[in-house]
Amino acid sequence: MSAWVELADRTWVRRYEKYDVNIGLVLGSDGALVIDTRGDVAQGEELLGHIREVTDAPIRWVVNTHAHYDHVFGNPAFPDATSYAQENTAAAVAETVAIDVPFSVAKVIDLGDRRVELLHLGNGHTDGDVVVVVPDVDVFFAGDLIEESAPPSYGEDSYPLEWPDTVDRLIGLLSATAKVVPGHGAIVDAEFVREQNDNLGTVANTISGLHHGGTSLEAALAHTDDWPWPQAHVEQAVRRAYATLGTPARPTLPLLGLAKND
Ligand SMILES: [Zn+2]
Repeated sequence: MSAWVELADRTWVRRYEKYDVNIGLVLGSDGALVIDTRGDVAQGEELLGHIREVTDAPIRWVVNTHAHYDHVFGNPAFPDATSYAQENTAAAVAETVAIDVPFSVAKVIDLGDRRVELLHLGNGHTDGDVVVVVPDVDVFFAGDLIEESAPPSYGEDSYPLEWPDTVDRLIGLLSATAKVVPGHGAIVDAEFVREQNDNLGTVANTISGLHHGGTSLEAALAHTDDWPWPQAHVEQAVRRAYATLGTPARPTLPLLGLAKND
């Protein structure tokens, strides 16, 4: 059984058993804002009913943290809301769900007596991740840039080499007491985010090192040391990074003596 947790003044999170996904709710004097909408229309409608447990306010804004179905496909349950997403997310879901306001880097939504900021800090879990900031209560909805109940998910649309820099930008915004809502799992703090980003950095550096050393994709996929998570979990990270970096060059060796032409 899921239930709303009031993280801060008129700022809630509800962790659903299905996909273990977190849904956010922020209330202002002009209406309510929903962060992610669950995996299909029926789940979205159930979410709407759950929102009605805490407020009768009009639901005027929906924000999708990224394009994956468990965060977006409940959008049609909120037909009167204006939906916001990063433009790459909007493009990725365009055939299924229309987003009203695609944006590139940042957007502010005025809820009346408070505001919510939407920030695209760079590529990571996808190329359209958005962090939703509620500045007056120091709460950050991080989408799947951060996960608590499982390691961060490297999908075929992820950017393993850029991800750590993106989370670094998030860390730069976090106070020691900030509350961070991951896409999946329990609420975390800045310390958790730093530790998870150390691991994301280890994955990126290990892959870069293997590539730089001339390691073939096949050999890199078979590499077992150094990973902070089970090898199977980073396989897609290796594939994605190698697709970006290209075929590794053969390592250059000193060829002293061989250049003599006599
Ligand atoms: Zn995702």
